[in-house]
Amino acid sequence: MTPPLSIDEALARVLACATPLPAEEVALQDALGRVLAADGLAATDLPPFPSSAMDGFAVRAADTPGSLAVIDESAAGRPAATTLAPGQAIAISTGAAVPDGADAVVPVEDVVTRGDEIEVPAAVASGANIRPRAGDVEQDAVVVAAGMRLSPSRLGALAAAGIGRVTCSRRPRVSVLSTGSELAAPGTALAPGQIYESNALLLAAQVATAGGIADVREPVADDEEPLRDRLREALEADVLLTSGGVSVGPHDLVRRLLAEAGVHEELWGVAVRPGKPLFFGTRGRTLVFGLPGNPVSTLVGFELFVRPALAALQGSESPGPVFSPGCLGAPLRRDARRDQLVRAAASSEGDAIVLAPLTGQGSHMIVRAAAADALVLVPRGEGELAAGDSVSYLPL
Ligand code: AMP
Ligand code: MG
Repeated sequence: MTPPLSIDEALARVLACATPLPAEEVALQDALGRVLAADGLAATDLPPFPSSAMDGFAVRAADTPGSLAVIDESAAGRPAATTLAPGQAIAISTGAAVPDGADAVVPVEDVVTRGDEIEVPAAVASGANIRPRAGDVEQDAVVVAAGMRLSPSRLGALAAAGIGRVTCSRRPRVSVLSTGSELAAPGTALAPGQIYESNALLLAAQVATAGGIADVREPVADDEEPLRDRLREALEADVLLTSGGVSVGPHDLVRRLLAEAGVHEELWGVAVRPGKPLFFGTRGRTLVFGLPGNPVSTLVGFELFVRPALAALQGSESPGPVFSPGCLGAPLRRDARRDQLVRAAASSEGDAIVLAPLTGQGSHMIVRAAAADALVLVPRGEGELAAGDSVSYLPL
């Protein structure tokens, strides 16, 4: 194995190969989690007209204080037909258009109503309780910029600004192929030496949360012929994720067979625990990740390298991974040669996020890892980190 790269070096190599996929138009209701390939521009001023922020009466500020004749009503979606003259008021609802001639709204709770007249006891400032036209955004201005992922609030903003369709990079199609002669399907009986296959489902779920479309293939044994064929088929995608068979054992065939299939090796080996024998290569525009088979290695390898790559393929400006600051709840021994991603439980204590390392840090211990809500980065080095030390972590 070539000397392992640092996480940052490996990530830089991966991201250098992950250029955005072609863009397509998407209906806004199908765009949750997608990344904009072009700025979303407001189709209208927002608000489109001066509107009332309160239920009350539209008035001329110069007429207040005083008693005014109520001549009409402006309701939401049903503007008044009349113009306000001196001495007059128009009843108005929240969100309704402010009638011509009015320059303020008095809330209903601030007036005394007498039949068709209101008494406004105090002076009202011009502009009071009126939301000005375009106060939120002007027509043709950027509502959400290219490169931003569409969260619920951003979808709401685009809809409010009248945008029905957006331009997004295509979702990456991701083949998921588990390799290993020991793998049996969950729900079946285990033969001697078998274990249940878990990485395909794990990876497919991670792909889905990263905006990709997973195409899960049948697991394949560590036998040269079927593995060669399954790898070639699975390479017809934007991204191929394999698990298992990338280490140095006699049955680890994935790297050699990928090379035979025309995959160029970009890196093999990252100074990280778990997940050191990670492979990354390319064939044309297809990105290929050979993830080590231990389930926690697969999980961590995806979060460190695959999720950012999928974000970059979708045109994200900040593909991550995004580490957050926290502090350690207990001491942790460092590894001299490898950065570690330690599974931890996160809790908040005052302003701080405290990360308590879990017992059972073996890379095969997926059940222990399932209790974690954080991967704490423990940089390689001598000695140990103390309880209370500042660390960064990836939320899970
Ligand atoms: P490998 O990377 O093929 O050397 O596998 C490392 C370890 O992960 C072995 O204990 C395998 O049995 C286990 N493993 C490999 N693939 C899977 C899988 N798809 N699901 C669960 N465990 C796996
Ligand atoms: Mg194996």
